[in-house]
Amino acid sequence: MQITANNPDRKSWLETPENCDFPIQNIPFGVFITKDDIITIGTRIGECAIDLGAFHQLGYFEGIPLTDDIFMQDSLNDFIADGRKTWRLVRNRIADVFDAKNPKLRDNKAHRDIIIFDVNEVEMLLPIDVGDYTDFYSSKEHATNVGVMFRGKDNALMPNWLHIPVGYHGRASSIVVSGTPIHRPYGQTLPQGESTPVFGPSKLVDMEVETAFITTAANHLGEPIPVDEAEEYIFGMVLFNDWSARDIQKWEYVPLGPFLGKSFASTISPWIVTMDALEPFRCESPKQDIKPLPYLQQTRTDGTFDVKIKAFLETENGDLNLLTTTNFKYLYWTMAQQLAHHTINGCNVRAGDMMGSGTISGPTQNSFGSMLELAWAGKKPITLKDGTQRVFFNDGDNVIIRGYCENENVRIGFGKCTGKILPPVTLK
Ligand code: CA
Repeated sequence: MQITANNPDRKSWLETPENCDFPIQNIPFGVFITKDDIITIGTRIGECAIDLGAFHQLGYFEGIPLTDDIFMQDSLNDFIADGRKTWRLVRNRIADVFDAKNPKLRDNKAHRDIIIFDVNEVEMLLPIDVGDYTDFYSSKEHATNVGVMFRGKDNALMPNWLHIPVGYHGRASSIVVSGTPIHRPYGQTLPQGESTPVFGPSKLVDMEVETAFITTAANHLGEPIPVDEAEEYIFGMVLFNDWSARDIQKWEYVPLGPFLGKSFASTISPWIVTMDALEPFRCESPKQDIKPLPYLQQTRTDGTFDVKIKAFLETENGDLNLLTTTNFKYLYWTMAQQLAHHTINGCNVRAGDMMGSGTISGPTQNSFGSMLELAWAGKKPITLKDGTQRVFFNDGDNVIIRGYCENENVRIGFGKCTGKILPPVTLK
């Protein structure tokens, strides 16, 4: 089935500003609550949020096999579970109805008033009920940078890294939607030169600039997903800030890996951009230094996507400071390889599971994806527009990640993934 929704020549009767992340070719999916307290699944074109529950009730999905309440839910999990054929039919139909040449809804004011909202008048909610969250560690540059800082240049990459898409099981309950403030976490840390830990708020709160992909129900327990089939089970992607408390992490992570230094919060952007919408932005993934084992050998070489990503620090005076400019395509392991590896032991993946890419660092100093790397473990403080310096984040700092794909015809964006650091809570 063709992805007619991606037709770059299509224009919408809804206005889309120049350089907008959400032209009619995007059609992402999210969940929002209206001023009248109605929670619905929706999409977005330009500055309009579109209530797909109402759209469906008024018959605009006629002919597509969908249950009556599929969009009148507080998560996309059931829709995602319907699979790629349904996602594609639904996106194609939305594109068709909002096409400038189609009068059906365009000329029906009563229906427009029920279906279309100003995006500033709705509140975005978490789009999925995240069952499980896995975080990979798939940027060679990031793994090397961290390795150099902690183990020295000669042992920077661990011996397994070029053979395995390294990952760990994260915490799903603390995944929050963009805009949710984050309290500085408490924990145990080991001060430099000491042998016993102290308790208090983390002093080293960091970002991890990542993307995450969301899966549909992919396999039964015991059945691995072949690497060349894995993409079929990926619904779409979001921007992802995997907040990290480096001092807590450093003291706790041996031998079982990250725990409380990571699980206090992770922020995602609210609109899931489908893999179908990203299809025109495929590109070659980095050549792999060592041929991976057969179950990780992907036939297609254009298994990654050219997504430009920037992170900013907004200080309380409103200054926007660019921290980094990176790209999803720098990642060494593809999403298909990650998913094939995740399931090779028979682990089952479900609709609404989320997989983080790992911090996305590029080859240059200004393309690193964490403050740990940008300020090189505190050795190279970053000077902001207001003259203050940062090595990690202060209370009141607002971290904003943006991402988009662009070619000569169209720009497909992810919107924003933001989170502001608040002071630690008062302990009881
Ligand atoms: Ca991470």
